[in-house]
Amino acid sequence: MTIGFIGLGHMGGPMAANLVKAGHAVRGFDLSQPLLDEARDKGVIACASLTDAVAGADTVITMLPAGKHVLSVWQELVATVPPGTLLIDCSTIDIDSARKAHGLAAAHHCPSLDGPVSGGTGGAAAGTLTFMVGGEEDVFAKSQPVFAAMGKKIIHCGGPAAGQAAKICNNMILGISMIAVGEAFVLGEKLGLSHQALFDVASVSSGQCWSLTTYCPVPGPVPASPANHDYKPGFAGALMLKDLKLSQEAAQSAGAVTPLGAKAAELYALFNELGNDGKDFSGIIDMLRQQSASTV
Ligand code: NAD
Repeated sequence: MTIGFIGLGHMGGPMAANLVKAGHAVRGFDLSQPLLDEARDKGVIACASLTDAVAGADTVITMLPAGKHVLSVWQELVATVPPGTLLIDCSTIDIDSARKAHGLAAAHHCPSLDGPVSGGTGGAAAGTLTFMVGGEEDVFAKSQPVFAAMGKKIIHCGGPAAGQAAKICNNMILGISMIAVGEAFVLGEKLGLSHQALFDVASVSSGQCWSLTTYCPVPGPVPASPANHDYKPGFAGALMLKDLKLSQEAAQSAGAVTPLGAKAAELYALFNELGNDGKDFSGIIDMLRQQSASTV
């Protein structure tokens, strides 16, 4: 298959490399020349323009920062590719932009999918991403070999933009649960409870969750978690704030009441303002600990 790949950043670069490894011809484009050079080293055909990258492509994938970038690139795409070209956006973007992107594709008779991911840069490099896919069932079925080259779990969530909806709902749970776990450890510290004792109890009790058992925000109980590496991301605070803001925009426009999601967005905004945007999001426990210290 010939695949056009637009956006070769932290996620797109390794994803495009995995498509090459799976035997696809990948024609890549990014605004950054160093990223194009890096992609070329991994077997991607580095192209000087979007038009060049999509020439002869059966499928085009976009992996871009936000909705405005996706809409601007998709406008250019639909004016360039022939009808029938499959367009897949894997970026995390707002629901309205995702719907508009599907609309652009439909107006030009191009099948389309939204397929945001979880698994971070590690999952992108290892080819173990989870894809949450929105779009028509038959389009989803045809896209399997493309997703399979980049990920392990590929879940069809429903019609257009359902993948984005699943992504922001999941990450709202994640943001809230990380704060909950952080608060519990800080309270435990104040009560003289060791981190290991709280972990041993909560990880097999009703407080059990991913933020605790896989990504524990204190060093020790889960050796691979960013807490053991000075909160090097992982998943940066800036990205968590982006996703929480998307969840709150969606909640507002859909009329859902999400008070904890709103509070999590507020706390992550503060975490970012304090200069932690490049730190892993689990580092928010330090902010909670400092706030607790100043109340004594
Ligand atoms: P990134 O900033 O590293 O990469 C985005 C790339 O898009 C950049 O290299 C940029 O030059 C390129 N770009 C922007 N406009 C362009 C245009 N018009 N034409 C061509 N290239 C263009 O971001 P990333 O970390 O790779 O994230 C990409 C998407 O994946 C985001 O939506 C992000 O929210 C989502 N995501 C990221 C992670 C993560 O851990 N980094 C995890 C899950 C989802």
